[in-house]
Amino acid sequence: MKKLNCWEYKKCGREPGGIKVHELGECPASKEENLTGTHDGEKGGRACWIIAGSMCGGTVQGSFAQKYGNCVLCDFFKQVKEEEGPDFQLSSEMLEKIKGN
Ligand code: SF4
Repeated sequence: MKKLNCWEYKKCGREPGGIKVHELGECPASKEENLTGTHDGEKGGRACWIIAGSMCGGTVQGSFAQKYGNCVLCDFFKQVKEEEGPDFQLSSEMLEKIKGN
């Protein structure tokens, strides 16, 4: 089965070309080039919990530290963790990839 990106799973419409982009712009999770391939995802699509300013729920989220507590409760986070099993990457590893962005 194809591994879904967050915008496909959540049907948020905040990815490039999505139906809700006019509201808040494109979600940074759908544009983070340095995370392409992470958990077999496009851009930050399977690592959205480490992206500051993502737009889940229609509001701009805060920094990694501010939003992580909510993200770990998210059904998409849990699904990726289950799908990736031992290949699930630590947030610290992924944060290194986007450092300086
Ligand atoms: S982080 Fe949330 S708002 Fe952003 S693309 Fe993923 S599901 Fe959509």
